[in-house]
Amino acid sequence: MSSKIKFIALGGGQWHGASCYYIGVDGCNILLDCGSDSKGGVASGPNLNVLLKYLDSLSELDAVLVSHSHFDHIGHLPQFHAVAPNVPIYATEQSKILANHLIWDKGGRYLRMQSRTLVEREEIMAENVLESIIGTGYAKTIRLPKFEVTFYEAGHIPGAAMILIETENHRILYTGDFAKQPTPLADGYVVPKNISADTMIVCGTHAVNPTYTHNFQGRRLVKMHRCLLSEDIVGINITQLTKGLEIAKLFNDEMESGRMSAKSIYLDDSIWKLGERLEAMGRSVLGRYCRPIPNSSFKNGVYISDRYVLNGYAKTYGINFTLHASYPETKELIYRVNPKTAFIVHTGYTPEYYDRRYMALEIRRERGADISLIYPENDDVYMI
Ligand SMILES: [Zn+2]
Ligand SMILES: [Zn+2]
Repeated sequence: MSSKIKFIALGGGQWHGASCYYIGVDGCNILLDCGSDSKGGVASGPNLNVLLKYLDSLSELDAVLVSHSHFDHIGHLPQFHAVAPNVPIYATEQSKILANHLIWDKGGRYLRMQSRTLVEREEIMAENVLESIIGTGYAKTIRLPKFEVTFYEAGHIPGAAMILIETENHRILYTGDFAKQPTPLADGYVVPKNISADTMIVCGTHAVNPTYTHNFQGRRLVKMHRCLLSEDIVGINITQLTKGLEIAKLFNDEMESGRMSAKSIYLDDSIWKLGERLEAMGRSVLGRYCRPIPNSSFKNGVYISDRYVLNGYAKTYGINFTLHASYPETKELIYRVNPKTAFIVHTGYTPEYYDRRYMALEIRRERGADISLIYPENDDVYMI
């Protein structure tokens, strides 16, 4: 194996948002995800201009491979497709379907703030890219002219995939966001027993936090019980549409099992529509107590929305949590794949008394120099 791999995080290096990673290897130019960050209601994409130092134009890319349909992984696809419409975009069938809803997730909030002309232009760009995405199934190898690619189930949300890229001299595994434990909407990841790769790109939300080992679902439920039991009408403000459905499903299951007193769970229009879509795909997510938010007056119940629907009327709580692999689960996957190099991207919070590179130090202690971890900063170029 002699050829080198060029790696650049164009967004989503050591943070969440605008995930977009470039790999140049064996004459192939590949983009992994093309997400947007949305802070303060304004969406911002990855720094694709960095690539123009190495490519004459973005049209020279061979493909965009999409891990899953969260906004931080797909939000910039409309703008990308508008400038490089010839570049094929691959995703799982389920991600393609969910993209129809989730491309408007935080994007929708952003669009509402713009002029009507801009909104229409953005909507057309989004429709164009949604039509052009090529959907594929899990564990089916796609043979492209210069490389092969296989999507494996990654857990996290329906449709999410780990992506294995096989070029002339390399096997590269991009994990996307992944989870080992089942989440309310998806089962845990499924990869072949003997999966191996020389290089990994790991979305390591908890890879920089060695204390993130406990059962987050349990903690979350305790918090939910506390706010739910005390009020007749209560709002839950969420940051992603999928989170709204995850909370609704957890509440509903608690109510059905009798651990929580039964109440109506009202979902706003976008969450409800996404739920219906998942039901049509065979995922049971809208339980017995879930209903769309009524247009008329507020009845007793829990209201879940990404907007403050109960503003000034009843108390609203923000509930945030992640459905990503824990620190030990992330390390376990790296050991299982056993790469020479793992790029750790999409990282989250590190307690201040830990070195962010704790996992690198730990792996070095346990495995010597066999596996090296790199924590790329945005726009820096790595040749390995
Ligand atoms: Zn995600
Ligand atoms: Zn993400």
